[in-house]
Amino acid sequence: DEAKRTGQSALIFTPVLRERQRERREMEFDLRQAVRNGELVLHYQPLVDAGRCAVSGFEALMRWEHPTRGFLSPSVFIPLAEEIGIIEEMGAWTLQTACREAASWSSDLSVSVNMSPIQFGSATLLQDLDRALAESGLDPKRLQIEVTESVLMHEGDRTIGMLRAMRERGLTLSMDDFGTGYSSLGYISRFPFDKIKIDQSFVRDLRRPENIAIVRSIISLSRALNMNVLAEGIETREQMDILINEGCTDMQGYFFAKPRPATDIAGVVAEIDARWSADLSMPSARA
Ligand code: C2E
Ligand code: MG
Ligand code: MG
Ligand code: MG
Repeated sequence: DEAKRTGQSALIFTPVLRERQRERREMEFDLRQAVRNGELVLHYQPLVDAGRCAVSGFEALMRWEHPTRGFLSPSVFIPLAEEIGIIEEMGAWTLQTACREAASWSSDLSVSVNMSPIQFGSATLLQDLDRALAESGLDPKRLQIEVTESVLMHEGDRTIGMLRAMRERGLTLSMDDFGTGYSSLGYISRFPFDKIKIDQSFVRDLRRPENIAIVRSIISLSRALNMNVLAEGIETREQMDILINEGCTDMQGYFFAKPRPATDIAGVVAEIDARWSADLSMPSARA
């Protein structure tokens, strides 16, 4: 019967759960050492300006090179870092590293850094930011900050204040993964964003009429609010063509390049330039 079945499965799963708990504690322990041990690195993925047909900058995406488990994905360790209270320290490291690395790139390239909503609750966020800028000498205009909609739901006024302070420093603000959160469309007009990034879940299947409808409404919203609009997760030529036709101003995805180590920056720019000029039918002609 039911009680017996449940009892049995509890017996079966207890060792599995215990093993998972042990693994998790080990991961927590390792993650606390990761910054100190220099196991974190930033990889960079290009953002492409559809009008100029050129790379406009790179998004910094964190990787953890675990001593025994290899490269781990931020979708696994960022939530863990948030939970165990080390995201502020990691965020400060990311700002420092991204600004320092970007300072050596061609001066027309920007660098985008993702920020967790939890960082907006940090008393030292603006200090961390100013320190990263001062130490690297990076022009603040070249630094973009990416936040998701969920940031708007935490302590609204404080967040607005922080976003304004960033804007005053000359930074560019992007709303990441737009369309996946729960904020109302009107909400975004209250915040000083420069760019909306359409979440890749809508880009993945543009043959679904509801996805095209969502993409269109985000594009018209961004126009009305005078913001740029970037499509994330572009993997095919067909997706790129559709999205440029619909009016996206910027693009990002494996079709252009996957995230790569900092040493590949110049190579990625050259590769994408070469692809645009080799294919004259690319939308450059239309722009
Ligand atoms: P995100 O900011 O939305 O970054 C885009 C994610 O989509 C990246 O995953 C990127 O590798 C992936 N991506 C890009 N183009 C394509 C594509 O064409 N197809 C597919 N399937 N995926 C694509 P990644 O690097 O695993 O990062 C996942 C998330 O982790 C990021 O989402 C961001 O929210 C978070 N994250 C990454 N680095 C940092 C960081 O330094 N700080 C914070 N707070 N969060 C970070
Ligand atoms: Mg992002
Ligand atoms: Mg995104
Ligand atoms: Mg995301």
